[in-house]
Amino acid sequence: MVLGAGITGVTTAWYLRQAGFNVSIIERQGEAGQETSFANGGQISTSHPEPWANPAAPFTVLRWLGRAGAPLRLRPRADLAQWQWAFDFLRECLPWRSRRNTAAIAALAAHSLAELHRLRELAGIADAYDARAHGILHLFFAPRAFTRACARTAELAPFGIELRPCTAAQCVDTEPALATLAPRLAGGLYAPADESGDAMRFSRALADVLADDGVRFHYGMEIERLNATDGRITRIEVRHLSGERDVHEADVYVICLGSHARGLLRQIGEDLPVFPLKGYSITAPVTDAARAPQVSLTDESRRIVCSRLGERLRVAGTAELNDYDTGIDPARTTAMLDWVDTCLPGAIDRERATPWAGLRPATPDGLPIIGYMRHANLWCNTGHGPLGWTLACGSASVLAALMCGEEPAIDFPFWRG
Ligand SMILES: Cc1cc2nc3c(=O)[nH]c(=O)nc-3n(C[C@H](O)[C@H](O)[C@H](O)COP(=O)(O)OP(=O)(O)OC[C@H]3O[C@@H](n4cnc5c(N)ncnc54)[C@H](O)[C@@H]3O)c2cc1C
Repeated sequence: MVLGAGITGVTTAWYLRQAGFNVSIIERQGEAGQETSFANGGQISTSHPEPWANPAAPFTVLRWLGRAGAPLRLRPRADLAQWQWAFDFLRECLPWRSRRNTAAIAALAAHSLAELHRLRELAGIADAYDARAHGILHLFFAPRAFTRACARTAELAPFGIELRPCTAAQCVDTEPALATLAPRLAGGLYAPADESGDAMRFSRALADVLADDGVRFHYGMEIERLNATDGRITRIEVRHLSGERDVHEADVYVICLGSHARGLLRQIGEDLPVFPLKGYSITAPVTDAARAPQVSLTDESRRIVCSRLGERLRVAGTAELNDYDTGIDPARTTAMLDWVDTCLPGAIDRERATPWAGLRPATPDGLPIIGYMRHANLWCNTGHGPLGWTLACGSASVLAALMCGEEPAIDFPFWRG
């Protein structure tokens, strides 16, 4: 029984089904991919494995703290666990830890891209999610930041990551929609292997394939409690939308609850270092196809990403360590629309943009939690933070291998209770 039908839950269900499991999924929303997987930045970003906890992060946080419009906002609470998370995050910024985490994410991301290609062909959903394989172009406005980033490409080459330094003119050759922006650009790094696509449409399409293949989806059920006896999960208690309560049983349970995993697991004495890092996006119809990029973009100065999804443009960014609130601060989404007006003028219909906010399930080290818990029949696949779409297929495939007692395809620090 897979708990949660975000991108992580449906991919987990796919690999378990492929391995011969009888699978059911419990989800509180009415269909798959309706929470954090709903309107993310759309990037399949294998070229950016460096976790947010890196040696430069503490200085970046200090520089941005308290600045209006900064991409990062912290709202400290009287919550010991939140402080512990922040302390652990700082520890993971140590150079050797960050290097180790980068290597693990790079391996998982490369495996995940290969698995995404395999899965979408096998499932027949390659055309279902506005996929684009035009790479990601990282944009730099400050010459020093560009020089530093170019120097780092050598560190990523051993992981098989190709990042091509580009002058401003070469950025425009790669993506003609950047013509207006070119005079302000210091340069760019182009990652040709990266892709983009709509994670929600992918989740929905995969859920349809799974349902046809016998996976049972129980939508509209809020999981309220996990019951455990003698170190095993015996059943889960759910509440239907109607208010009616019910129990569900399975032999094995997999947690794919994103940011909400921690609260439920604490009831049974399991602790996961997963906290919500809120982010925003806007999705707007493209009004001039020539001005809306085909290549996915990352503005490294503002940590804003932008992906073309069919006839729509998605722009996403910002990080707030706050709580579980997904309310929309109009100042945040207006800043994204202003970014489009400045960088890609005339590309979208601003008046018809849809704002959204979601909670990245973030771990201090940036590594997803994939493996088994202390309860004998409980597994976990969550905590993918800012890279859940990128890492989903790979994470689900290695989890299924572990659950089948097989050697996973990559070396990774799996969670072991
Ligand atoms: C602004 C933003 C931009 C992003 N951009 C990118 C990007 O460009 N590339 C990338 O790779 N990643 C990106 N991400 C990260 C990515 O979206 C997440 O890592 C990913 O969606 C997490 O998927 P998930 O399945 O773990 O969580 P979710 O999608 O949240 O799925 C968890 C599911 O569990 C269900 N659930 C939770 N609690 C309960 C309960 N009690 N009972 C029943 N059901 C429950 C929820 O309804 C939900 O459907 C971005 C995130 C944000 C916020």
